[in-house]
Amino acid sequence: MISVRAVKTGSIRIRPSHRAGRMDHPVWRRRLDMLRDRAWTEPLPIYTYLVEHPEGLFLFDSGETARTATKGFFPWWHPFFKLGVDIHVAPDDEIGPRLRTLGIDPDADLRAVVLSHLHHDHADGLHNFENTRIVVGDENWRASRGLRGTISGALPKHWPSWFDPERIAFAGPQAGPFARTHPITADGRIFAVETPGHMLGHLSVVVRADDTTYFLAGDATYDEKLLCDRVVDGASYDVATSLATLDAIAEFSRAEPTVLLPAHDPLAEERLAEKRPLHA
Ligand SMILES: [Zn+2]
Repeated sequence: MISVRAVKTGSIRIRPSHRAGRMDHPVWRRRLDMLRDRAWTEPLPIYTYLVEHPEGLFLFDSGETARTATKGFFPWWHPFFKLGVDIHVAPDDEIGPRLRTLGIDPDADLRAVVLSHLHHDHADGLHNFENTRIVVGDENWRASRGLRGTISGALPKHWPSWFDPERIAFAGPQAGPFARTHPITADGRIFAVETPGHMLGHLSVVVRADDTTYFLAGDATYDEKLLCDRVVDGASYDVATSLATLDAIAEFSRAEPTVLLPAHDPLAEERLAEKRPLHA
């Protein structure tokens, strides 16, 4: 029996031009659009996903921390953090307390934590998992370190000192439109695929359950409608790369019924409950 559960770690508001960039603007202008935008989206969930598999429990992403509300948490000099995000995470919303509520000891009961990418709202919960296997795409790891990583929206200064994740290159077999994969479980029913565009080396996780397939998309797309409409987020480093990722997910879902589960899609939990597949 393989099952997937959404675990919400608070919410985030972003600029509408960040959620959906203008498709007729080049990358530099889309980034400027985000900084000039004065509107907010509705509060968007910050989801992690917990997968139960015969080999154990697997967590996808680690969510956001309540400490973002403390002064100096975000680098003062970075306009994106100053202008572009409005985060609401209470201490009890963090992944540690959320897992404990489910009867799970965060640092003892998980087989692995897999991270889509190291942006703050996916990696700020890492301190809960000192003794747990943590898996990150090698390219994303390299893009997230140091000043370059901070400029790209990661917060390496908050990574725990022990943080030394297992960094994967993709050498596993092809899965439909995804030329290379990386198996997470020995039986191959949970595997990672490359979904670049939102950030260098971004990955998604495919879970082949008995009755349907789940696509844990991280920020490969912010929601299902954007994917179907082929609209790319304003943060993307390359619109063509992001579009190729959206098209690959759509193509994958045409070959097998696939429930799309992005990190910030307000309808993800409802689709998950109904196992409603993507029609793209
Ligand atoms: Zn992100």
